[in-house]
Amino acid sequence: MVDTPPVLIRDGGVIRDGFSPELDELRELAAGAHRYLEELEAREKAATGISTLKVAYNRVHGFYIEVSRASAHLVPMHYVRRQTLKNNERYIIPELKEYEDKVLNAQSKGLALEKKLYEALLDRLLEQLQPLQHSAIALAQLDVFANLAERAESLNYCRPQLTGDEVIDIEEGRHPVVEQVMSEPFIANPLLMSEQRKMLVITGPNMGGKSTYMRQTALIVLMAYIGSFVPAQRARIGKVDRIFTRIGASDDLASGRSTFMVEMTETANILNNASRHSLVLMDEIGRGTSTYDGLALAWSCADALANRLHAYTLFATHYFELTELAGLWSEVVNVHLDAVEHEDTIAFMHAVQEGAASRSYGLQVAALAGVPKAVLTLARQKLAELESGQTLPAREVKKALSRQPDDEALQPSLPLFETEAEPDPALMMLDELDPDELSPRQALALLYQLKQARQTER
Ligand code: ADP
Repeated sequence: MVDTPPVLIRDGGVIRDGFSPELDELRELAAGAHRYLEELEAREKAATGISTLKVAYNRVHGFYIEVSRASAHLVPMHYVRRQTLKNNERYIIPELKEYEDKVLNAQSKGLALEKKLYEALLDRLLEQLQPLQHSAIALAQLDVFANLAERAESLNYCRPQLTGDEVIDIEEGRHPVVEQVMSEPFIANPLLMSEQRKMLVITGPNMGGKSTYMRQTALIVLMAYIGSFVPAQRARIGKVDRIFTRIGASDDLASGRSTFMVEMTETANILNNASRHSLVLMDEIGRGTSTYDGLALAWSCADALANRLHAYTLFATHYFELTELAGLWSEVVNVHLDAVEHEDTIAFMHAVQEGAASRSYGLQVAALAGVPKAVLTLARQKLAELESGQTLPAREVKKALSRQPDDEALQPSLPLFETEAEPDPALMMLDELDPDELSPRQALALLYQLKQARQTER
């Protein structure tokens, strides 16, 4: 389809040439101005001998003849000055004025005529309004269906089976948008929700694909319900009355609502309205407040969704404590996004597996993102303490760390902690020397020694 700019009736140009001879004539007159002005300019140039003379138009002053000031003394008597600029003088002549009236007149007459013709057309259409509206709706529907069909064919979608059973069963589901924008292959994933499996608690590292998995499920359900094929190998979708999402941390500062307020408002809406046939996506609920608050809220929301509302719920969380729910409530199942750790780094497999993730890989993801080594080392230390249940005050952490000279965080180049480690040999050499006693040659030799000492140290 060609993109044409919108045409406004008040600017004209809505009625095609050839429809009204009267309109064509007025248009020709208005358009002819260009040719006429060129001729006039050539004629006046020749008559006056002023080479800089030109004929132009602006909205305020209309048509005028412009002459440089240097040549102003050459203009003939019948030129009437209209405007004086810094370097130019502008004039009109009776012939030009007359032409201007004719052209402008033709333009406004043309516009008025177009408007009249357009209104007459609307009056004619009005007689057939209903059939026209029906055709427009039918064409719009046809457009949508043709589009969905084309996408289904081109992108290898399958026809979903809609069923009265309580189930959402997807084989090799994909995210219709993410799979298109990725350069690497998209990993298709299965999903099974049923009466016995109403809540999936989804764990796994950041960047593991949790949000993608949840969103693709909602999109597949939505697409199935609008009559589209879906990006999956096979899909069986039971009754779903609404899709609720609590995803992403977006501040709504303009209306005075903090991230957490937005999160809770959306959560409240879900908890007040979801039914056993609703599909609910909860992404990292409770993240916007302190750990214990957040965990407590996440837990109780999960309780409401699983035990009171019995909604189909995809519950992505970083709180490992929530993976215990599967052992407590029968409808809850753990799944996780897989990742493989290799030394200090991590590879995301993007494959959904049954069971809870073994850990959260937060530090590895931070390392991938480029968080400085020293910060990670301290984080690792702190994590170990937290996991062993002994949270030390900050000063003690610092002291404990400073007693481990071989730790990465304590390299001499990091002045973060006072260290009792072996002093750097280069520094020792520097401490011992007296610059005033050195000859230039000795100074140069020493510089090489210092460099050598630093290299050995590394
Ligand atoms: P999380 O919510 O776990 O932090 P996301 O769902 O935001 O992770 O996914 C992070 C990125 O991983 C996506 O932007 C996408 O590039 C990639 N990704 C996610 N799921 C898949 C998948 N199934 N196959 C391939 N790549 C994926």
